[in-house]
This record gives sequence, C-alpha cells and structure tokens, in this order.
Amino acid sequence: GRGRAEVTVLVLGLDNSGKSTLLHALRPADARAPAPHHAAPTVGQQQEHFTSGGVSFSAWDVSGAPRHRALWERHYRRAHAVIFVVDSADHLRLVVAREELELLLAHPDMFGRRVPLLVFANKHDAPHALAPMQVAAALGLERITDKPWHICASCALSGAGLADGVAWLARQIR
Ligand code: GDP
Repeated sequence: GRGRAEVTVLVLGLDNSGKSTLLHALRPADARAPAPHHAAPTVGQQQEHFTSGGVSFSAWDVSGAPRHRALWERHYRRAHAVIFVVDSADHLRLVVAREELELLLAHPDMFGRRVPLLVFANKHDAPHALAPMQVAAALGLERITDKPWHICASCALSGAGLADGVAWLARQIR
C-alpha cells in the first residue's frame, strides 16, 4: 500500500442522483446525527464533506451553472478516486450524465491519471431502473482505458450496494 494518511474521494453526479443520501449513508453512525444541510441556492458549491477511516469524501453537483464549473474542477488534481452517481431510473438524463462524465475524463487534471472510477447505478430500487450493465453501456464506460472502473447497483436510501462499491474502491487505492 501507499500508506496515505488521507485519501480524497470526489463524489460527482447530476443533481438528484442521490449524492447527499449516499454520503449520509456512508457517514459513521456517530457523526450522522443532524441531517445533512442541503445548500440549494449555492449551486456548484461543495455540497457535502466528511471523513471516515482516513478517507475524505467530498460531493459536488456537476449539473450546476457552467460558471460554477471551476469550483469543482479545481479539486480534480487532488482526487485519489472518483465516485460518479447516476440515477438509474432517470433515462432522459443519462445522456447528460454521460456528457458530464466525458468532460470529467477529458479534463487535463484527470485524463491519463490512474484515478479509480466507481459508478453507482443508484436508485436500483426505483420502478423502471436500468440494470447496471445498461447504465454502463449508456455511459460508454467500456471506452475508458486510462482508469480502472467499476459499476455497482445501489440504493442510497437503504444502503444496499454501497459497501460493495466502496470495498472495490478501497482495493484500488490501497
Ligand atoms: P443529490 O442532489 O445528488 O444530492 O440527491 P439527493 O441525495 O438529494 O437525492 C435526491 C432524491 O432521490 C431524494 O428524494 C432522495 O431521497 C432520493 N434518493 C436518493 N437515493 C435513492 C435511491 O437509491 N432510491 C430511491 N428510490 N430514491 C433515492
């Protein structure tokens, strides 16, 4: 292992994909008391942040106004891993999610770096949710060659799938 004191994981995805819910579920129980503050008007601002077991998680909406893009892009450089959250039941916006993912992967601070990418095909419980393989195809994940990637069905509400995904991530970073 590389013996990192702290690992930074960026949690990115469109609004309403379930990032806040997911972070809330990952948060250690003792730190979970107050519900996460949802900063609605400050689009593009850091939404959520917490540290657990030496891993620092930070979540951003990538669907905010373009003028806020630089706010989250400047964190790409220090990211050791990326979690990209997709609403598996939001078929219409899968194409938008793909565009955002492609922008992320093509960014100079990301392209060519071996930053593990974990995709949560979230809301797996929702009616008409696509299977992870379908989400992977819609996002074009098979075209990614510079990063290890993994897709995992999840339900952030119940926590199902989260531990499996994070365990994969931990194995990649270690
Ligand atoms: P964010 O904008 O990406 O932070 O998304 P939120 O975490 O605020 O979630 C948006 C909405 O989706 C909320 O109403 C959540 O309760 C709901 N949600 C999040 N994850 C899931 C899930 O896995 N299944 C279902 N059915 N709803 C979810």
